[in-house]
Amino acid sequence: MEEKVLSLKKAFQQDLQNVKHSKDIEQLRIKYLGKKGPVQGLMLDLRNVDPEKRPRVGKVINELKAEITHLCEEAARSFSQAEESKQLEQEKIDITLPGKRHFLGRRHPIRIMLHEVIDILVGMGFSVQCGPEIDSDWYNFEGLNYPPDHPARDMQDTFYISEHSLLRSQTSNVQLRAMENSNPPIRIIAPGTVFRNENISARSHVFFHQVEGIYIDRDVSFADLFATMEEFWSKLFKKDIETRFRPSYFPFVEPGIEVDLRCTACDGKGCRLCKQSGWLEVCGAGMVHPEVLKNGGIDPHEYSGYAWGLGIERLAMLRYGINDIRMFTENDMRLLAQF
Ligand SMILES: [Zn+2]
Repeated sequence: MEEKVLSLKKAFQQDLQNVKHSKDIEQLRIKYLGKKGPVQGLMLDLRNVDPEKRPRVGKVINELKAEITHLCEEAARSFSQAEESKQLEQEKIDITLPGKRHFLGRRHPIRIMLHEVIDILVGMGFSVQCGPEIDSDWYNFEGLNYPPDHPARDMQDTFYISEHSLLRSQTSNVQLRAMENSNPPIRIIAPGTVFRNENISARSHVFFHQVEGIYIDRDVSFADLFATMEEFWSKLFKKDIETRFRPSYFPFVEPGIEVDLRCTACDGKGCRLCKQSGWLEVCGAGMVHPEVLKNGGIDPHEYSGYAWGLGIERLAMLRYGINDIRMFTENDMRLLAQF
């Protein structure tokens, strides 16, 4: 009988060593101490033992029972301690490690340029007016005196959405709205994005930014336009920039001129940016066509005005010495991080 107790004890110790999880301990306890377990079996066998030996054997069995219970409790405790420290280890935070670096956003060079142009012109007395990017043919072309067969109206040059609506190809679409909404003197600038159906190259893109300026009042002349241009360019570049004015044609002005700046990338020697000409076209301008004034509800016999349009990308290229317009839309951090 006592031998049985001893071998049961050994078997239990063996089993206990093989326990890998805390949840197995309870099962082990039930296996040995349960109602149908071996310890209970020994208790039942006790009645067959010689009555004289019975108290001693009973004591030994009780001791085994107590030991199994004690060892199970101890094992359960050490398992839970191990699991707790493992969890602590996993949740550990090393506060001495360097923090994650957060990068501050920056303004895009086009935005910087756009805002600089707006600031200068607002300082010269112009107010800002915005127009829709999706517009009708009337505001973008017809009302601005573009004949029906003008090449700019071709699908090749303009993104049409339907027969009569399009993505504006110029911020000039604000001109007629400005005339409709207020009486002279009108002195506004219209900054914004414009869209052209062009092949993307170093010099042209399918969308870019313009600032349109228009001034309408009594006796506005070409001299006013030149003076405004001169003041604007000198303020923008904070120095004398060589300019030239060439006669040109835009349907909504008469006469029209083009303003060129001496190429600042090559100083006029000729480079990819200026197509080897040494000059950069930066601005179309002219006196507002009498037909356009009429379309805006303004009497051309009483009033006159000038208008001009700047390409912001061109200016940013000049300012920052960037010789490829595509760099503005490539999101290359090596470029953007410089601003
Ligand atoms: Zn050049």
